[in-house]
Amino acid sequence: MISIRGVSKSFGALKVLDQVNLEVARGEFLVLLGASGCGKSTLLNLVSGFERATVGSVHVNNREVRDVDPACGMVFQQYALFPWKTVRQNVEFGLKMRGVSRTERAKTAQHYIEMVGLRGFEDSFPNALSGGMKQRVSIARVLANDPDVMLFDEPFAALDAMTRQVLQEQLLSIYEKSGKTIIFITHSIDEALMLSTRMIVMGAKPGRVVQDITNDLPHPRAAEVQLSPRYIE
Ligand code: ATP
Ligand code: MG
Repeated sequence: MISIRGVSKSFGALKVLDQVNLEVARGEFLVLLGASGCGKSTLLNLVSGFERATVGSVHVNNREVRDVDPACGMVFQQYALFPWKTVRQNVEFGLKMRGVSRTERAKTAQHYIEMVGLRGFEDSFPNALSGGMKQRVSIARVLANDPDVMLFDEPFAALDAMTRQVLQEQLLSIYEKSGKTIIFITHSIDEALMLSTRMIVMGAKPGRVVQDITNDLPHPRAAEVQLSPRYIE
């Protein structure tokens, strides 16, 4: 489903990714772990088409990613909402682009706005929301748009513990029902264990995949498992 082939990425003289090869099968819930600055967000940006590889290529659904790909929905580490659009308009955006009817759009948007706990904020503008609330709008937007591949860059990091737990469970339930392909970045081992079917650990300087772990524990399992420190570089 996602194929990262010999990818290196440099920003000027800084080499962030070095010869990364990664195959993600349809239906995998892949969690990316690794120290801050090791290149996780950069790798996700290459899959979504927001960045181009310096060397190598990325394929989604057997098509090379050359531009922002509507088949990939991404929740960014920094919310990336349209400041001039309301919460509802932000969530409806992708649906509108796809030509979904006004009534259907409104219904879908409302469903996901409520799922992320933002009922009552439909007509608010992003600037009037807290960081965690903006992140929830961004999550609702991706879920509403229902892409084949969902990319999440620390989507729950800015959320309070209660909301995080609710959204983790919702995401698992969506994943289990739909069989979507997901790449998800987090710094939380508990979250990685709870959500993933597979975990990739990236090493720093320059970023490379250093461990590839199949997580075949039953969901949800965060409470029962302690991950060995050897998984963390
Ligand atoms: P974190 O866990 O803190 O989010 P990360 O693993 O997501 O870290 P990246 O954001 O991918 O790390 O950044 C990797 C390196 O690339 C960092 O040194 C960062 O400063 C650099 N970098 C990322 N984007 C750019 C850019 N657009 N221009 C220059 N340098 C960049
Ligand atoms: Mg990052």
